[in-house]
Parts: sequence; structure tokens; C-alpha cells
Amino acid sequence: MTKQKQKVLIAGASIAGPTLAYWLHQYGFEVTLVERATSLRLGGQSIDVNGPARKIARLMGIEEEIRAANTGELGTHWVDKSNQVKASFPREGAGSLTQELEIVRGDLVTILYEHTKEHVTYRFDDQISHLQQDDQQATVTFASGSTESYDLVIAADGIRSKTRQLMFGDEPVFNYLGLCTAYLTIAKTETDPNWARWYTADDSRVLLLRPDRQGTTRASFSFLVPEEAYNQLDRANKKAILIERLAGAGWEADRLAQEVEKSEDIYLDGVGQIKAPRWSLNRFAMVGDAAYCPGPITGKGTTLAMVGAYILAGELATHPQYADAFARYERIMRPYVESVQKLPPGVPRLAYPKTALGVSVVNTVMGILASEPVQKMARVLGSSETEKEERMDGTPLPEYKPAY
Ligand SMILES: Cc1cc2nc3c(=O)[nH]c(=O)nc-3n(C[C@H](O)[C@H](O)[C@H](O)COP(=O)(O)OP(=O)(O)OC[C@H]3O[C@@H](n4cnc5c(N)ncnc54)[C@H](O)[C@@H]3O)c2cc1C
Repeated sequence: MTKQKQKVLIAGASIAGPTLAYWLHQYGFEVTLVERATSLRLGGQSIDVNGPARKIARLMGIEEEIRAANTGELGTHWVDKSNQVKASFPREGAGSLTQELEIVRGDLVTILYEHTKEHVTYRFDDQISHLQQDDQQATVTFASGSTESYDLVIAADGIRSKTRQLMFGDEPVFNYLGLCTAYLTIAKTETDPNWARWYTADDSRVLLLRPDRQGTTRASFSFLVPEEAYNQLDRANKKAILIERLAGAGWEADRLAQEVEKSEDIYLDGVGQIKAPRWSLNRFAMVGDAAYCPGPITGKGTTLAMVGAYILAGELATHPQYADAFARYERIMRPYVESVQKLPPGVPRLAYPKTALGVSVVNTVMGILASEPVQKMARVLGSSETEKEERMDGTPLPEYKPAY
């Protein structure tokens, strides 16, 4: 590795982009981050920072900030139409949505931004419109009109990455999983507890309400749709579809429909996984959801984004040739990604029953899984937190000691 600072452009300022920027700066790279939105996008529900991502957070010195920003969620209740709890999964128990380092997505995005903004150039309200590369450099034209050159360009702009398209064309594929999910922040009411509440309705619909520490409630609404249909719609049409799909779902559906009507931060998209045969092409590479989105149902999108960013930066810092670094990044990361992307048979379909009978079967099964004997068995079979912490599905997280 030469001492001369290498210039890296990253597209996307959410989780993967700023984590990569943090580490690249630590290793002496000059980093610019371009974000399409006019400011940080802070929407979404809680996400987990666990396993190897937790170790990375500790190495970055942000573990305590994440802990301090904890949502305070006590666990997950599976409720029926009358809000009766059918199954209760306390925080960190087997099957709980709630983990020790549970943080609202926007809070993690903010922490990462705060830890990078002094050292990294953030370029909001812009995006890459054209990309070219040769032996000497990558030439980038921005939508705002300017053209600049970099040593490397990294796509970290999420599941619908346009940068990925500019780099790899149609080679990476979006595997749609037959499910659509909407996220929105809604007013908290006195009846919202500090528990996540999961409600399964008939007609293949699930509502999930979760507490945050901002005094609002984070809602999601998911439903099965065989063909991918909604991601191109404008906000008004997305709202109309959600309101129609919520009709007759029971429980808090009417409240949610009213909130959808007035929401400013609604997000609706098909749920899918990104499968790409390669993650780099000469001076271009991808990280996070742009490269290997596992889908929110795995609960591992943030973990993969942070681990991928840490490994990519570490490999770039310890290899003089970027091609060797990209190859090692992929060699280390791909088995982990593949294990995370592997979904059990019937997922997500089985959690979205069509009929009222199906709903009651799901609630009964969840009740059994939450019962003390099953929880006890899961505790005995599960590995300890320390064991899980440093491992990517059995493989230890690499340690990097760059030579400079
Ligand atoms: C608004 C929002 C809400 C979300 N809510 C949830 C949630 O509730 N639960 C969950 O599990 N996951 C959620 N996710 C996804 C989750 O953040 C990711 O799965 C995971 O953290 C990996 O992050 P990432 O940085 O790879 O991608 P993402 O978090 O998807 O971030 C991509 C970033 O790139 C930006 N971007 C997009 N296109 C361009 C472009 N052409 N040029 C430059 N920048 C671009 C986006 O504005 C965004 O900031 C959400 C993502 C977003 C963007």
C-alpha cells in the first residue's frame, strides 16, 4: 500500500456507507459519501446490532451510544383481534424480536453520521448519474452536473441501488419473496405498551407496532402479494393501496389506516433478496443491501452491512492491490451472506395465513414456542453471547492491523 491517500467515493449514507467511511478514514483513505436524499433518512423501525456487528460497534467506540439509545422495548407480544396476548417473548429470549442492542434505525444512522462527519465529505441531494473506469481511475458524473475522479467507487445505496445498476447492469438480481412491507411512524397512544405487538390478521396480513424512545410508535404493515407490484408507485397511490389492504383487518388497523392517510415518512416496498454473482468489477464494488440484501425477515440486514463494510475496509487497508482486497472481501463474506440468505422452507408464507383458522393455528404455535419448556430447551441449545459475538456463522471476525 502506498502512503499516498487513495480517494474513495461511496454512494449511500445509511448503515453500510458510513460504517465503511469510518473504517476507511481510520486507515488513511480520503472518503466522500454521496447521498441522494436531502438529509439523512431516519425512518424505519428497530434494528438489531448483534453478533459480529456488536463487536464492530465496540471497535468503533459506539457500543455505549447504541446502548444508551435503546428503544426500551421489553419484548414481543403476539396478540389477537381483542389485543389478548397469545404468546410472550421477553427481550433476548429465544424467538424474541427484541435484542439487547435494540435501536431505532434512524438513531443508528445518526450515530454513524456523527462519528464520520468531521473526517468524511458528505454530499447530500446528489447521486451518481454516470460511471466510467480505466487503469488509472474511476470517473464519476454526478446528477448535479460535476465530474470527478476517484480511485475506487463503492455502491452502498440499498436494495434498489441505482449505482449497482450503473456498475453491473442487470447481472445482480432482486429475488422477490412475495411480500410487501410498509413502515411508518405514528402517534403513540396510552394503550401502546413498551412491548412490540405483533398481530396476524386473515387474508395474509401482519401488523407490528413497536415503541421508540422519541415518544412515537413505529408501525409496519406487511402482506403477501404474489407479483411485485408497488415499488414504482407514487406516495399517494401507495397510501391508497395500504388503506385498502388494511380494511377489515381488525385490531389497530383502523388507527393505522388513519395514520397512513396523514403520514409524511411512509415507506412501502417489496421484500426481496439481492443475489449477485460478483461484488466487484475493477475499481467498483458493492456493500450492504446493495450487494446482498437478505431481506428484513432475517433480521440481519444491518449486521451484514456493518460486517461487510468492516471487512471491505480492512482488506483494502491491508492489500496494496485493490483487486486482491476485493477478492478477499468476497471470499470471507460470501459464505456468511449465503448462510444468512438461506430461508427456512415456507418463509415468509407460513407466517401469513389466509383464513381465520390459519390465524388461530399461527397463534397457537407461537404460544407453544413461547412456553417455558421450549424456551428452556432453546437456552440449552443456544450458544452463549460471547461465543456468538465474534463469529460470522462460526467463522471469527478478521482482525486488521494495517501497516501504517
Ligand atoms: C428509509 C428506510 C427505512 C428502513 N426501515 C427498515 C426497518 O424498519 N427495518 C429493517 O429491517 N430495515 C429497514 N431498512 C433497511 C435497512 O436500513 C437495511 O436493510 C440495512 O441496515 C442495510 O443498510 P444499507 O446501508 O446497506 O442500505 P439502506 O439502509 O437501504 O440505505 C441506502 C441509502 O442509500 C441512499 N440512496 C438510495 N439510492 C441512492 C443513490 N442512487 N445515490 C446515493 N444514495 C442513494 C438511501 O437514501 C439510503 O440512505 C430501511 C431502509 C431505509 C432507507
